[in-house]
Amino acid sequence: MDCLFCKIVAGEIPSTKVYEDDYTYAFRDINLQAPVHVLVVPRQHVANVLEGAQVDGLMQHMADTVAQVVRLEGLEKNGFRVIMNTGEDAMQTVKHLHMHVLGGRKLGIEMG
Ligand code: 5GP
Ligand code: ZN
Repeated sequence: MDCLFCKIVAGEIPSTKVYEDDYTYAFRDINLQAPVHVLVVPRQHVANVLEGAQVDGLMQHMADTVAQVVRLEGLEKNGFRVIMNTGEDAMQTVKHLHMHVLGGRKLGIEMG
């Protein structure tokens, strides 16, 4: 399948790893919208949160990994934002489920 994040998970495209486990991979976004901008993806290809919700345990693993990233990046005290762009109106550009974890500064009302 021609999927950018499947290639990143497989190591075919380089990325800066923040955390990984058997189910998920977390890496820095190539176009930082905040001092901390990490993408959390499932290793398994699902297109979005609606597909992900149909796979037992998948969204739980995603949330667990968000918590790991938050700890590793020191975001617990000041807070952070998690975003899942889904479909056209949200301007989802990569059709492999991903959570943006943003923090490290006061965030505006928009994503960035
Ligand atoms: P979306 O707009 O689909 O919610 O987010 C896709 C994200 O993937 C964007 O924030 C974009 O900067 C990021 N991105 C696109 N291509 C690459 C890449 O090759 N490497 C990394 N690390 N991030 C990427
Ligand atoms: Zn994929």
